[in-house]
Amino acid sequence: MSMTSDNSIEGRTKIGVRGLDHHSRDEIEKFWREWNPENPKIRAVGLSTPKICNLRCVYCYAGSDRVRSKNELTVDEYKRVVDEARELGAEVALICGDGEPLMYRYLIEFVEHLSDKGMYPVVVTNGIALGDDTLSQRIHGVDSFELCETLYEHEASLVVKMDSITKEIYERIVNVPGTFDKFMRAVEIKEEYKCFITRFLELRTNH
Ligand code: SF4
Repeated sequence: MSMTSDNSIEGRTKIGVRGLDHHSRDEIEKFWREWNPENPKIRAVGLSTPKICNLRCVYCYAGSDRVRSKNELTVDEYKRVVDEARELGAEVALICGDGEPLMYRYLIEFVEHLSDKGMYPVVVTNGIALGDDTLSQRIHGVDSFELCETLYEHEASLVVKMDSITKEIYERIVNVPGTFDKFMRAVEIKEEYKCFITRFLELRTNH
C-alpha cells in the first residue's frame, strides 16, 4: 500500500513502523553512527524461529503451522545474524516471533552459541515443551527437566504466556485439548530452576 506525500491514506493519518529486518546492515550502522558517532551500538537483536508451532491459538497472527517451511534460515544463518549483532554491540537476543521457539530443533545449539558469544537469550514461549517429556524428547532429544536445565545453564530467561488460569478457557484459546496439564507441569519445573519470567495473560471468550 503506498502512502501520499503528507503521510496519509484517504485522508487518514498513518504512521508506518518497519522492523530492523527491513533494513540493510549498512543502513542500521549509518543510523547508529549518526545518532551516536562515538559509540555506535545496538543493545538487543530479535530473532524469529521457524514458523512452526504445537498450538493453534485463536488469536495467533503468525499463521504458524506444524510443518517446516522451505524458506527457514539454517542454524548457521541464525548464528551469523547473531555474530553480526554482537559485533554491533548486542548483548541480548530475544527469540520469539512467528513460531514457537521450543519447537525449534536447534534451539539448544543456538542458545549455546549465544552464551559462547557472551549474550543473554530471552525465549518467548508457550512453555508446553517444558512440561511434555515426549515432545521435548522428540524435538531436543532430552526430557523436559534437562531442557529446562540446559536453558538455565546458559542463562536463558523464559517469557511464558499463560492464556488463562482456567483449564477449559485455556484449552479453548490455544485450541489444543490436553495442553493445560502440560503447561502447569512446565510451570512447576521452571519454578524449580527459577529461570523464567512469567507473563500471565488471561483472555476472555464469549461463551
Ligand atoms: S503459541 Fe504463539 S505462535 Fe503458537 S499458535 Fe499460539 S500465538 Fe501462535
